Amino acid sequence: MESTLSRDEIALQARARAFSQAVVRPRAAAIDRDEQYPWDIVKALAEAGFVGMTVPAALGGQGRSFVDAVLVIEEMAKSCTVTARIVVETNMGAISTVMAYGSEAQKKLAARLVLEGDKPAICITEPDAGSDALAMTTRADRRGDTYVINGRKHWITGAGVSRLHLIFARVFDERGQELGIGGFLAVRDESKGLRVARREQTMGLRGMPEGELVFENLEVPASMAVLPPSGFSRGFADLMNAYNSQRVGAGTVAMGIAAGALDHALEWAKTREQFGRKIGEFQGLQWMLADMQTQLTASRLMLYTAARSRGPDGSAFPDPMLAAQAKIFASESAIKIVNDALQFFGARGYSRELPLERMARDVRMFTIGGGTAQVLRTLVASKMLGWKLPQTRDGYSPNPSLRDAAE
Ligand code: FAD
Repeated sequence: MESTLSRDEIALQARARAFSQAVVRPRAAAIDRDEQYPWDIVKALAEAGFVGMTVPAALGGQGRSFVDAVLVIEEMAKSCTVTARIVVETNMGAISTVMAYGSEAQKKLAARLVLEGDKPAICITEPDAGSDALAMTTRADRRGDTYVINGRKHWITGAGVSRLHLIFARVFDERGQELGIGGFLAVRDESKGLRVARREQTMGLRGMPEGELVFENLEVPASMAVLPPSGFSRGFADLMNAYNSQRVGAGTVAMGIAAGALDHALEWAKTREQFGRKIGEFQGLQWMLADMQTQLTASRLMLYTAARSRGPDGSAFPDPMLAAQAKIFASESAIKIVNDALQFFGARGYSRELPLERMARDVRMFTIGGGTAQVLRTLVASKMLGWKLPQTRDGYSPNPSLRDAAE
């Protein structure tokens, strides 16, 4: 696999692997058990230069590629999913959106916070607008030089720990005319009217808070609206295109968990004896190992390819179709690989003393968050057929101004 990487990429991967094994692995079980965001790990990641790697050098980052980020994410995910997600969200996702479409002031703000270790929160999902994100009701009303935001989001990663928030809302001008969906930047402890209402009780990923956020007359300066060149009317599609990089990151976390689980299973297959033989001598397990490795290799290649790709418009973001396929395949394969790895350990795999049960809980998320495997399949089919595939009964979003963004 290394043969597909440059010398610099291999060196970065080796550095990330050593960090993951020495710093992250010893903390992983406690992060899960205590359900506490790992500020010590954030500090260590920042000192090692693994946060904000993709931020341009002119803004204090390293100007690294998405492939570099993917290599580091995989190594962290082998040890600790929460740590891997911090690396995703300080290098891909909301930060990429701001770097692509933000003003100079917005880029400087986001770069400073991320390089200090802040994991930006992206706020799209609402209780009644999940896969159907265009049905969101959170609104931003223009009042002079500010937007006033009201609404409610849930399942927001980093709720209560993230400082920078990229909030998606329907935008209305001073006459009450709807313009489309826009993104707005707010810093939690500097903005009145941004409240964490509750923390979700999650199955896994327990060191990373997921929460419900309420915006009550949250005032955001108009200069903090993130405006793609196409403006608000098609802005949602552009902003989501940039956010597309996060899908590659999320798929990589799933793949990294699977790689870590497979390492454990392989070691155990060479160690554990039953019937007077190493269990790895049984063909039933050998074929499982081969299938696990095959799925892992395919996932890894799809993710590398997506990370290196560019959008059809030549944009600096991964091709949406390649990113969607990579996330579907990697997340579904990872659930199977981790489940099979757990099986190698028999009863021990079911114990909380080994990391397999934590990995099995953590990996389950990745067919859901960041676009479900079903919705991503619709995206892939839509590109294949060359058709828009709107999912509402009448074929379009209830809001005519958002029709173009509904693809
Ligand atoms: P629903 O949309 O209600 O879907 C329910 C089921 O129906 C799913 O299986 C779905 O695939 C299926 N379905 C829906 N529509 C279709 C269709 N047209 N065709 C076929 N099947 C369909 N959101 C954020 O904004 N920010 C975050 O930081 C964030 N972090 C998250 C972290 C975690 C751990 C999780 C679990 C979620 C997070 N989310 C976040 C929310 C996530 O993006 C949504 O859960 C996801 O988009 C699905 O929405 P939903 O949960 O409302 O499911």
